[in-house]
Amino acid sequence: MTSCPAFINGEWLDLKSLPSTPIYNPSSGEVIAECPAGGEAEVNAAVAAAQAAFPAWRETPPVERARLFFRYRQLIEENFDSLCQLVTREHGKTLAEARGSVYRGLENVEYACGIPSLLMGDTLENLARNVDCETVHQPLGVCAGITPFNFPAMVPLWMFPLALACGNTFVLKPSEKVPLTAILLVELLEKSGLPKGVLNLVHGGRECVDTLLTHPDVKAISFVGSTPIAKYIYETGTRHGKRVQANGGAKNYIVVMPDADVPKTVEALSTAAFGCAGERCMAGSTAITVGAAAETILPSLIETARRIVVGPTDQGEQPDMGPVITAQHRDRVLELVAGSEAEGAQVVCDGRGVEVPTAPGGFFVGATIVDQVAAEMTIAREEVFGPVLNVMRMNDLDQAIALANASAYGNGAAIFTNSGAAAREFKHRVKAGMVGINVGVPATMAMFPFTGWDSSFFGDLHIQGKEAVQFYTQQKVITSRWFGGHVDDVWRK
Ligand code: NAD
Repeated sequence: MTSCPAFINGEWLDLKSLPSTPIYNPSSGEVIAECPAGGEAEVNAAVAAAQAAFPAWRETPPVERARLFFRYRQLIEENFDSLCQLVTREHGKTLAEARGSVYRGLENVEYACGIPSLLMGDTLENLARNVDCETVHQPLGVCAGITPFNFPAMVPLWMFPLALACGNTFVLKPSEKVPLTAILLVELLEKSGLPKGVLNLVHGGRECVDTLLTHPDVKAISFVGSTPIAKYIYETGTRHGKRVQANGGAKNYIVVMPDADVPKTVEALSTAAFGCAGERCMAGSTAITVGAAAETILPSLIETARRIVVGPTDQGEQPDMGPVITAQHRDRVLELVAGSEAEGAQVVCDGRGVEVPTAPGGFFVGATIVDQVAAEMTIAREEVFGPVLNVMRMNDLDQAIALANASAYGNGAAIFTNSGAAAREFKHRVKAGMVGINVGVPATMAMFPFTGWDSSFFGDLHIQGKEAVQFYTQQKVITSRWFGGHVDDVWRK
């Protein structure tokens, strides 16, 4: 069975003696490895290593730090297929989805390669007579990253490359459901020439996280996961004096206007709702149809969803959609759909009974569409995180925006229309941090911040882009005066 070592101070440590939790191949239901439940001892050792490595790493010129990431970029590209296969094996994404997600992660490494330019400050000469002023951006110290199961490569790559490029050292705690990809990512950075202690990897759950949140030497925490845990991380981390950026869960609305292009909208809705088996924080999990849009869109959408082939992603030939992460998660998704029926909604495309004879032990749910969903139903309020699309019918754009804006979350929202006026109204008024116009999944790329609002984000500075550079650095403003200067007559006539 695959082992799951920690990486502390440049050494790979076998943690087999610790209690552990199973890591599944969701396509087959088999246990493929055990994730050790590390705790205080491992985290303290990792933070101590990161703290010891910080002074030298901080002094390493940004161009040299960037070179590490140029090499890393190359190694990720050379090992691209292995990374994608690992994502597929421990998470269940199709290979195409795994490739897309690893690319999104790679772009963050490429962004980190530009760190010398990103770290440049401002200067103003002669702020007052003979006085100059400049800003510099300096690293914080030891930063930590805690990541979710749904993007085993991309989300860790959102965090440690930029944090390290800024001159910090780092402790990564990946999801205990998918730690194998994180191990490969760290191995590749080690091969790129990573100095000892600069990046450390620990495994486990709450005990690990709590030690990071309360450790006096950890200066900043980046978190991505569900909303209750994000809130907990933010509250506990900030109470212990740390900077925290904590991305939470979501419920994302896609408004379909009657003038929307039918085939393109159906394709985008299907991808947004069922891509990655719905396990995306930016999944378009609710379609709000406006007026006649329900009649023009729904029949074709239902037909498209029924054609989606569900199956194992680890057997060579690729299905359209893979499994969800665990049997327990599958059962929760099924319960939410059953609950919606009990509350009066109509299941118009039912993926609950999907059969996959080639992989009878896999955790599968077929594409499911629930129509006539009302705002007060549980399925309208809770994040399902599975291949389930709610349909809510509204009479006009005002109603649609009001419905989307009543959500506790605020990650993404999209509109499909051919009307510039409707699109303008929507983008201006909708309460979400990432907005798509004829784009179903407006997830941002590395150079733009991942701007969740409300219960989708706790903190001030978001992950990715210039905001992340600000998050991982502190500004120093230096005001200087040198005595003995003289007024130059050259400028006097
Ligand atoms: P999760 O909250 O269960 O776990 C995330 C991390 O927190 C893991 O590393 C886990 O070990 C740790 N954790 C879990 N319970 C904890 C506890 N009680 N105390 C301390 N740490 C704990 O999330 P998940 O199920 O792995 O991921 C899915 C969730 O992540 C969804 O809600 C999804 O929307 C969200 N997500 C959000 C974004 C975003 O950018 N907003 C991106 C990806 C995923």
